[in-house]
Amino acid sequence: MDSQKKKSIISAIKQIAGVDKHSEYVDNYMYATNMRASIYMSLLVIVLEIWMIIRLTKTIIENDLTANLKHYFEAYYLNYFILLGAGIAMLLIALRFVLWKKTDKKYLGTAMKWVFSFICIYFGIKISMQDYAKGEQILTFLTMELFVVCLLTWRPVVGFGILTSSYLIFFYKIGKMPAPNTGEQGLTLASQINSFTMWLSTMLFCISNYRNMLSQALKEERMEKINAHLSRISVEDELTGIHNMVYFRSESEKLMKYVTTDRSKVVFLFFDIENFKSFNEKYGFIEGNVLLKKVANMISDAFPHSLVSRFSDDHFVVLTRFDQSEETAERLSREIGSFQDEIHLQLKCGAYKPDGDETDPSIACDRARFACNSIKKHYDCVYRLYDKVLEDKFQLKQYIVNSIDSAIANDCIKVYYQPVVSTKTGKIVGLEALARWKDPRYGLLPPASFIEILEEYRQIHKLDICIINNVCRDYRNATKNGLPFVPVSLNFSRLDFELCDIVEELKKSAAKYSVPSAFLDVEITESALTDQLGYLQDAMDRLREAGYRIWLDDFGSGYSSMNVLKDYQFDVLKIDMKFLTGFANNPKTRPIISNIVDLTKRLNMISLTEGVETKEQFDFLASINCERAQGFLFSRPVPEEELRKLVSDGKLSFSEEYRSIQV
Ligand code: C2E
Ligand code: MG
Ligand code: MG
Repeated sequence: MDSQKKKSIISAIKQIAGVDKHSEYVDNYMYATNMRASIYMSLLVIVLEIWMIIRLTKTIIENDLTANLKHYFEAYYLNYFILLGAGIAMLLIALRFVLWKKTDKKYLGTAMKWVFSFICIYFGIKISMQDYAKGEQILTFLTMELFVVCLLTWRPVVGFGILTSSYLIFFYKIGKMPAPNTGEQGLTLASQINSFTMWLSTMLFCISNYRNMLSQALKEERMEKINAHLSRISVEDELTGIHNMVYFRSESEKLMKYVTTDRSKVVFLFFDIENFKSFNEKYGFIEGNVLLKKVANMISDAFPHSLVSRFSDDHFVVLTRFDQSEETAERLSREIGSFQDEIHLQLKCGAYKPDGDETDPSIACDRARFACNSIKKHYDCVYRLYDKVLEDKFQLKQYIVNSIDSAIANDCIKVYYQPVVSTKTGKIVGLEALARWKDPRYGLLPPASFIEILEEYRQIHKLDICIINNVCRDYRNATKNGLPFVPVSLNFSRLDFELCDIVEELKKSAAKYSVPSAFLDVEITESALTDQLGYLQDAMDRLREAGYRIWLDDFGSGYSSMNVLKDYQFDVLKIDMKFLTGFANNPKTRPIISNIVDLTKRLNMISLTEGVETKEQFDFLASINCERAQGFLFSRPVPEEELRKLVSDGKLSFSEEYRSIQV
C-alpha cells in the first residue's frame, strides 16, 4: 500500500473517531451547537424536576407523611434539587452565550456541560437501579443516555467513552442485583442483546450527529472564508495590497462629511509614474508589477494616517493633509527617479484642495488627475496644484465631452481647408481638411483644444465622421455649381479604427454625395502606427481596395518612423514640419530633408513637406524635387469660401489635372 493511500485511510479513521484536529471555527461551531442543545435539555430537566418536587410534596401532604420528611429529603428531594440546580446552572450558562452573546469563558460552558451530563447519567443509573429493584423498566437510564449522548454533540471517541463506561457501570451494578421476578442474579440473554442493540444505536447516532455537525461547520467555515476573501478584495487592490478605489471613494466621502474634518486643510493627490509604460516594455510585466508594489508601499509610508489607494494602472490617489504634501511628493519623485538609470522614471503629482462644502471624491480625484496630466512631459515639474488656470481648462474639457453631440447636430463643427501645392507648378493639388469648432460660448476652437480630449473620452470618431460628411457635402455643392475641386486629405485618428468601421463610414458618405474615390485621401499619423495592430493593417487594405490613397502624416515626429515605412504601404509621405524649424540657421536640415525625399522616391511614394513658411524653404524643396508643399506661405487653413476668394483674387490657383474626373 503506498504511503498516500495509508495516509488517507488513517485520516478517514481519525475522522470517524473524531480525533482529527479542528480549526478554531469548527470548535466554536461545536460549542455553539452544544450550548443551544443545552437550553432545551436544561429546560426539560427543570420542568421535570419541578413537577417531581410538586408531585412528591403533594403526596406527602395528602398522605400526611411529614413525619418521615428526613427520609424523603435524603431519598428524593435531594436528588431532585441537585438535578434542578444543575439544570438551572446549565440553562444560565447556555443563555449567557446564546442569548446575551457573551462569548468569553467558554471553559465554564464546557465544564458545566460535563457536570450536567455526569449528573444526568448518575441519576439515570441511580433511579433505574431503584426501578429495577422494584421490577420496573430501566427507562430512566436509557433516556438519560439518549439525552446526553444524542442531544449534545460529542467527538465519537468521547461519546464512546461516556456511553460505554456508563453502560458498563450500570449493567455491572444490576448484574449483581437479584432479578425481582425470578430472584436470579445477572441479566438474561434477551436483556443483554437489547442493551447491546441500544448501546450500538446510540453510538451510531452519536457518530452521525457529530459528522453532520462537522460537515455543516466546515461548509459554513468555507462560506465564511469566501465571504471574508470577497469583502477583502472588494476593498483591496489585488496587485499592490493597498486599498482600491471602491474603498477610497466611500471612506473619503465619509471623511469629508465628518463635522470634525477641517476641509480647508486636506488635499487630494493624484500620482502618475511617468515613463512607466517604457519601463514595462523594457523589463516586462513582472518587473513592472514589482515596481508598482514598491511605489504603492512608498506612497503609503510617505503619507501615514492618510487614505492611500491605487486608482488604476500606474496611478495612485491619496487624501491627506495639505501641508508638507508638496515636499513629500517631490521627495518621493526623487527616490523613484533614482531606482535605475536606463529609463527616467518620475512620479508626477497633481493636487486638488477642495473648496467650500464640496465633498464628492470622484470630482476631486478628477481634478487632481487633471492637474497631474497638465505636467506630463514637463521634466522640470513634479507637483502641480489645481488652480484657476487649470479650472478653466478643466471646464472646457468637460464642456467638450458633454457638447460634442450637440455641436455636430448644430453644425458647429466646420471644415477648414489648407492647400497643398505642387512645387513644380505652384498650383493647388490637394487640400487638407482640418477641423474647427465654432462654439457659441468659447468662439473658434482649434483642434488642439478638443482632439486629444475626444480621443481620451473615445468620442473622436464622431468628429471624424462629421468631417467626412462635411467634406463630401462640400465636394457635391462645388461640382453642382461648376466650381473646381481637388482631392481632400482627411485626418483619421488611430481610435477611429477601433471605435467604428471608419472605412465603411467613408464609403457610405462618398456614395451618398457621389464623391469619386480619387477625391478622398486618408492621413494617418505616424504615432498611430506604432502598435502592431492587425485591424489597422486590415482597414488600410480595405481603404486601398476601395481606391483611396493613404498618407503618412507627421513623418519623423515619432520614434519608429523607419519601422512604419517598413511595415506599411503609403502613397504620400508628409514630412513633419519640425524638420523645417531652424531651416535658416541649421545647416543639417537641408541634407536631412533631402535624404528623406530621396528615400520617399525609392519607396515609390510622393513626398510632401508641411509647415512651409518661407520662399527660401519652398525653393529648396523644389530644388530637391520634393513634389508637394503645404504651409502658411500659401495659406493658413481657411473656410472653403475664403479659399475660393484667394483663388479668384489670383493669389492661388487650382491645378487643372482633376477637372476631367470631377463628376
Ligand atoms: P496635422 O494633420 O499635422 O495638421 C497640420 C497642422 O499644422 C494644422 O494645425 C495646420 O494648421 C498646421 N500648419 C499648417 N501649415 C503650417 C505652417 O506653415 N506653420 C505652422 N506653424 N503650422 C502649420 P491644426 O489645424 O491646428 O491641426 C492640428 C492637428 O489636429 C492636425 O495636425 C491633426 O493631427 C489634428 N486634426 C485636425 N483636424 C482633425 C480632424 O478632423 N480629425 C482628426 N482626427 N484630427 C484632426
Ligand atoms: Mg494632417
Ligand atoms: Mg501633420
